[in-house]
Amino acid sequence: MARSILSESSKHVFSAIREEDDFAEGLRKQGKKVVKLSSGDPALYYPTPKYIVDAYVAALESGRTSYSRSQGVLELVEAVIGRYKSKYGINMHEHDVMVTSGVAEALTFLNSALLNPGEEAIILKPYYTQYPVAIQMFGAKCLVGEYDESKDWSIDLEALKRLIERRSRTSKKIKYLLITNPNNPTGTVLPKKTLEEVVDLANEHRILLMSDEIYDEIVFHGAAFTSVGELAKGMPHVLLNGASKAFDATGFRIGYVLVPENDRVSDELKKKIADYCRVRLCANTPAQYAVAEAMSNQSEHRRTVGKLIERIEGIVDVAMKLLDENPYLETVKPSGAFYIFPQINMRSLDFRDDREFVHALLGEKLVQTTRGSGFGASNHFRIVALAPKDVMSDCVERINEFCRHHSK
Ligand code: PLP
Repeated sequence: MARSILSESSKHVFSAIREEDDFAEGLRKQGKKVVKLSSGDPALYYPTPKYIVDAYVAALESGRTSYSRSQGVLELVEAVIGRYKSKYGINMHEHDVMVTSGVAEALTFLNSALLNPGEEAIILKPYYTQYPVAIQMFGAKCLVGEYDESKDWSIDLEALKRLIERRSRTSKKIKYLLITNPNNPTGTVLPKKTLEEVVDLANEHRILLMSDEIYDEIVFHGAAFTSVGELAKGMPHVLLNGASKAFDATGFRIGYVLVPENDRVSDELKKKIADYCRVRLCANTPAQYAVAEAMSNQSEHRRTVGKLIERIEGIVDVAMKLLDENPYLETVKPSGAFYIFPQINMRSLDFRDDREFVHALLGEKLVQTTRGSGFGASNHFRIVALAPKDVMSDCVERINEFCRHHSK
């Protein structure tokens, strides 16, 4: 048999979120109207705010179309520094900020910079689907802890401690611990106290703490968001964020890595990430200028993100009310991001697993969701709560009907 030309590690590169796209496309070609509740993309439903689009066009028209500073145009870097100072009281300098083509690119830079083959990094499940891929594609390994569903998907500190301590007894070095707050796919906003404990644990074991805070502004139901940057002062840590979600600009592909401290680890890391930025030349230049304006114009931003959050809260409430009526599902109420992550009582339904469940739901009810096992949590599925309320309630009614139809 001919040997594959592909690398061993390339076998991990796969997107569970997009795996039903071809099937959905086939259904559309048959004239069926599929509702996509699988893509965490606000701009798919609500146009990027006009003031941001105008800034993009202005950047194009004024000829800002060349390669730009690799770690980000200074206007954007300054806007990011200003955002963190005013929002979180964090002081940063120009070289602490590195602009990337989305958090997606930031994750590949970080993993490539930090992980040798065979080394380990901790992620917690359910995790954002890219995390394990981005670790394994460099030949490294995921040490998978858990968010605890019985505790509203918060972090079980004792379990995390045990995981770290078990590894500490071996010679294996844990390269980093990555958390997501607010979380995709659970919509959990982690309490400040829990974050403080995570920071202490990382500090005690000298593990680099990374926090993906791309949904930091999208919180509701009275939840309060705390940035790890507010708590981890004095210890090496990395914050990830970008324009995709709160600025409703997914397709602009603008994200950033922040390494706010100046200890040896932080200095070494930020210099190396800057090297990665230089090697790939730059992020999209006009988009960077547009995001600089998006962040600097605070009154427009407050108005537009406020409207987005209000919408999301309304959609989540409508969906949750109907989901709570479904005896085959159990759902922790989210208070951030725009995801709902029900647990499927598989024993009472005639499916083998969550993959079969979401595939049949798409085929029979034309509602596209994502299987929980793609996020490391089998017997769950993820609903993106962005479609307008009437569409969402119709979809959840279809989900409920689907479950009734498939009950044993
Ligand atoms: N991190 C999390 C937790 C996400 O949910 C997503 C997108 O859904 C990303 C990162 C990717 O963000 P970006 O568009 O900045 O690459």
